[in-house]
Amino acid sequence: MSPITEETMVPKAAAIEGITGRTNSTPLTLEQEKNPWEAQAARFDEAAQRLNLEPGIWKILRQPMREIIVHIPVQMDNGTVEVFTGYRVQHSIARGPGKGGIRYAPDVSLDEVRALASWMTWKCAVVNIPFGGAKGGVICNPRAMSQGELERLTRRYTASLIEFLGPEKDVPAPDMNTNEQTMAWIMDTYSMHTGQTVTSVVTGKPLSLGGSRGRREATGRGVSIVTDEALKYLGLDPVGASVIVQGFGNVGSHSAKLLWDKGYKVIGIAEYDGGLHNANGLDIAQLMEWKATHGSIHGFPGGEAIDAQELLLTACDVLIPAATENVLTSLNAARVQARVLVEGANGPTTPAADNILAEKGVFVVPDILANAGGVTTSYFEWVQDRMGYFWTEQEVNERLERIMVDSFHDVMRYAREHAVQNRIAAYMLALDRVAYTTRQRGIYA
Ligand code: GLU
Repeated sequence: MSPITEETMVPKAAAIEGITGRTNSTPLTLEQEKNPWEAQAARFDEAAQRLNLEPGIWKILRQPMREIIVHIPVQMDNGTVEVFTGYRVQHSIARGPGKGGIRYAPDVSLDEVRALASWMTWKCAVVNIPFGGAKGGVICNPRAMSQGELERLTRRYTASLIEFLGPEKDVPAPDMNTNEQTMAWIMDTYSMHTGQTVTSVVTGKPLSLGGSRGRREATGRGVSIVTDEALKYLGLDPVGASVIVQGFGNVGSHSAKLLWDKGYKVIGIAEYDGGLHNANGLDIAQLMEWKATHGSIHGFPGGEAIDAQELLLTACDVLIPAATENVLTSLNAARVQARVLVEGANGPTTPAADNILAEKGVFVVPDILANAGGVTTSYFEWVQDRMGYFWTEQEVNERLERIMVDSFHDVMRYAREHAVQNRIAAYMLALDRVAYTTRQRGIYA
């Protein structure tokens, strides 16, 4: 083992260019702006520079540790065979096993999974849980696939990755278009391969298979907790504060419901195929029921239909993008009329949009803090599985609340002490922690 003793002085501009390959004078194209990996790298580089990170650590953490590509043959219901491409990227295991969800979507790409994996590293470090960061994705259209096809895809994907997964290696979880059933298949496939039931290999499982109470709502609960903290921090009154949520899936619906429970006025919900608006507030419990029975929010009698993009740019106290990446870009950020932006999704705001929002004085609760409630409760699930002893919902929620509130204030402290935007503050806090452990562990040679 050799300790990391490389240059420790402040890297000069030329040295930084040598690490990042980027010069400040080259503006990004829209395509580059919307590349999640570029977006992640831009924030990471800024945080690294402000921390005066030594070049060796900078170079290590700038790249994922491991990137796995698998091609997955699946027997389809009609008898044909399709081959799907899947990824698992493990960005860092410095602080513990890799951790992060698996998404199924037609537009999954390696750069997206890379970005999501590194965001998991920073997210776990922001909330100070003992995990690294990883993420998986499979290019497929889950809406067009049967349960049987999804099960075979999930099991074969898991089998292809079997040697890289494990409670001490890499622990997947749900993400876009994957759910408790998907996690049950992963748990079962892994267990069949190892000859014993291993519940802690994956989180977000059904309650009956080692899942945790509170996990399903956890990301939304975390979003609602940091929204409250943000409003208190700004001296604003949560009761009656107007909220617009983009996305009404697992994150968006529970965020909206929990805020509505606390007395916020949810005036709009935007979905990928249209939105709903009611200036007096939507009844979120009824809307959840409506979506469960009708499959979409459309036609809900308690609000008026509105164009989703128009809704995103409607005046409100709190805007919560809770769907996907690149929702706020250089093309629309100037028209945002929210006081506070709470990022339920991963990567909804591009770096160019960050600058515009900062100029407008929008207070941003960045994704790696705002949506960390999900992985925090995944950590609780992993702990409970390993103990074989399960907590009450109240215990889970109280522990989550404490971590989210403390983390919010840790990020605010970094923002004040370093005079940086909240997002860069969160990256600096995370990077400080991950760099510290990476340095301590040294380079195995
Ligand atoms: N997919 C969620 C996220 O992006 C949860 C990950 C986890 O629980 O491991 O944070």
